[in-house]
Amino acid sequence: MTHPALDQLKARLQELQSYAGAAAVLRWDQETYMPPRGVEARARQLATLARLMHQRFTEPVVGEWLQQLEEEALPQWDPDGDDARLVRLVRYEYDRAVKVPTEWVTAFARLTTEAREAWKDARALADFSRFQPYLERLVAMVREYAHFFEPFDHIYDPLLERFERGMKTAQVEALFAPLRERQPALLRRILERPQVDDAFLHRYYDPERQLAFVHRMVADIGFDFARGRIDLSTHPFTTSFSVHDVRFTVRYKTDDLSEVLTGALHEMGHALYEQGIDPKFDGLPLAEGASLGVHESQSRFWENIIGRSLAFWKHFLPALRQVFPENLADVTPEAFYKAVNRVQPGFIRVEADEVTYNLHILLRFELEVALLSDDLKVADLPAAWNEKMQAYLGLTPPNDAQGVLQDIHWSQGYFGYFPTYTLGNLISAQLWNAMQTDLGDPYALVEKGDFGPILDWLREKVHRHGAKFEPQELVRRVTGSDIQAEPYLDYLEAKYSQVYGLN
Ligand code: ZN
Repeated sequence: MTHPALDQLKARLQELQSYAGAAAVLRWDQETYMPPRGVEARARQLATLARLMHQRFTEPVVGEWLQQLEEEALPQWDPDGDDARLVRLVRYEYDRAVKVPTEWVTAFARLTTEAREAWKDARALADFSRFQPYLERLVAMVREYAHFFEPFDHIYDPLLERFERGMKTAQVEALFAPLRERQPALLRRILERPQVDDAFLHRYYDPERQLAFVHRMVADIGFDFARGRIDLSTHPFTTSFSVHDVRFTVRYKTDDLSEVLTGALHEMGHALYEQGIDPKFDGLPLAEGASLGVHESQSRFWENIIGRSLAFWKHFLPALRQVFPENLADVTPEAFYKAVNRVQPGFIRVEADEVTYNLHILLRFELEVALLSDDLKVADLPAAWNEKMQAYLGLTPPNDAQGVLQDIHWSQGYFGYFPTYTLGNLISAQLWNAMQTDLGDPYALVEKGDFGPILDWLREKVHRHGAKFEPQELVRRVTGSDIQAEPYLDYLEAKYSQVYGLN
């Protein structure tokens, strides 16, 4: 199975993985502990690493090793073996990387650093005009990027491909069509019913006790603190420097207990995926999630399907009640379950409930496609945003900070990223169905606090493989079908009929 080119390739990949890990530490530090004035030096450091990684990866010798392996080794290897899959993955990434000039990579890194600061100011002042010139340059650069990958069926395809390997714009449109029909219909039925009471979630909750409970909760579920840690940041995220060092962050609100609970379960879902990757892949590109969509299926699975279930709160509410007896003494698991599933259309995506969440994504996807196709000018984006908010959620944001400026993604040039959130939702329901076939009633386990079989199932079917399989291939292997919208819609309709007593 061995070949000199494989050893050379792996040594180079491990070198690249060291730069990537160092960059991840720097970004983690930037979001958690770095003082504000550190930002300029940090931007230089990250741009240097980005350039170095791109140069070292795209050197012609890497292409030569790949070609030797493809000609001399691959025909003899098991096509599903780790080394064969590694070579295929690296070939895919190499071919994509060499299409993008290093000058573009460096210029883009510089632009996104500046754009991020402009976006922060614009959002703080609710003034889109401060961000508009940066967004215009970003859209231009991202269009330029797409054209490096000609020919394509749709200019949005190469952008989607950055985050969801193999996914096409036409496929996303087909998957999103039934969501556009059924989710607003479900929302209308819910809004005709009496609202659930979540007032007890909005009493005063002491931060230290919130964080202590979260540590205990995620440890009970299976997060390994010998190989990870939790810190605070403005925007929760998960990062991995190695299979053995996986970190996530949370934020809390003293007057909204659900913030820390749902945020921690979400990021824990990402972190369990990273901790569950087979350690033999550590230091190689296989030691990553299969895609952002598959990653999000893990976070949404734990946050929503498990963390917003009645069984979950039957198990955890007694412990939570001991931490906050002054607030929760008379709250039942049924009342807690309904409160954390309260549906209410709002302006902000990250605060959206399950019923409205995908509508926020549909809006962004449609606007991105329009911007990239040149059907929409950046100057007209705020008005287009507000129009779609009214159409999907019946709301008009009071200002652009709560509208078009709310997300960081576009300032980072992440066009093509948003659809992966909804793909994650869809995949999570398909995994849930497959898990029920294998484990019977997983909620019976959840109610007993027996999370082992659930986590083991995810590790066996999804986590351990890392990026060995392409995302859509992985979904087919585990669930027996392609990514579909119906299982998720069926799950939503059944759950919220129960929460809101729909007929
Ligand atoms: Zn996530």
